[in-house]
Amino acid sequence: MNRRDFFGTGAVLGLGLAGASLNVANAQTTEQMDKRAEAKLRISSQVGPAPGKDLPEKLAKIKKYGCEAVEYGGDCVGHGKERYQMAADAGLEVGAICWGSHNGDLCSEDESKRQPGIDDLKKAIETAAEMKSPGVIYVPAFNGQTKLTNQEIRELLLEFLPPLAEFANSCGTNIIFEPLCRMEAYFLRQVADGASIARDVLRKAGIEGGIGVMGDFYHMDTEETSQMGALISAGPLLKYIHLAGGVNNPRRTYPGENDMTFVDGFRGLKYIGYQGFCSFECGCAKEDKEQAFQDSIAFLRAQWELA
Ligand code: MG
Repeated sequence: MNRRDFFGTGAVLGLGLAGASLNVANAQTTEQMDKRAEAKLRISSQVGPAPGKDLPEKLAKIKKYGCEAVEYGGDCVGHGKERYQMAADAGLEVGAICWGSHNGDLCSEDESKRQPGIDDLKKAIETAAEMKSPGVIYVPAFNGQTKLTNQEIRELLLEFLPPLAEFANSCGTNIIFEPLCRMEAYFLRQVADGASIARDVLRKAGIEGGIGVMGDFYHMDTEETSQMGALISAGPLLKYIHLAGGVNNPRRTYPGENDMTFVDGFRGLKYIGYQGFCSFECGCAKEDKEQAFQDSIAFLRAQWELA
């Protein structure tokens, strides 16, 4: 195939594969693309970062200080109804399930490990649906969890994720890729990369929802040249946000405790009309955690106003 044939084939394939919804941007004016009027800052918190001695107390404080949702860890899988009710009793919705990588099993070089991981991800999707959660946060592999190359992992994801995304879509929830910084993972480090894999899964499955990507401000601080650009690049595929300060000391603590600004990233969220949750996933550098939690929420609201 010569160069001219190659580009010709590519153009035809492109027309055939491009989902209408994902290319709708091409048909919109700049004004139509600007969704700032629709954007909302809806704060959530993982259980760990919230002040309080136990789950009921933490839920009460998450609500009291103005958050709208709680994010549960993978331990909620199989307990969807009960956890949903606990959140609802506190006046909260449920954010994503922070599920992780399942030890990288789904992308392991040991093929016997993959199916049990896929089965467990399906159970997590079922629990997310029970809790009316936006999705299950999924990391393909942390550093050292697989011997597969980045190219092999990407190809493998395109094999096993289309039916799972279809299942998530039918349940009204999502698989949500979490890009991580290089200290934690070398596969999938940028928001646009996660969005691109999600787009390919959607195209292959012939569906318009059920998989997306998230942005974590701590990881983005290392990997992204523009937080605004990174979040805009995901557009409608952006399903979730993790809130944490960046890499400077005090590292990965409550927003506002180190020098990282959120204005640039929040501008990106505003531009795409983001209405999903932004959830605390961080430590606390101060002694009075309850006061620090409130101060951080106030800081985030002020940053949102500036954006
Ligand atoms: Mg995170």
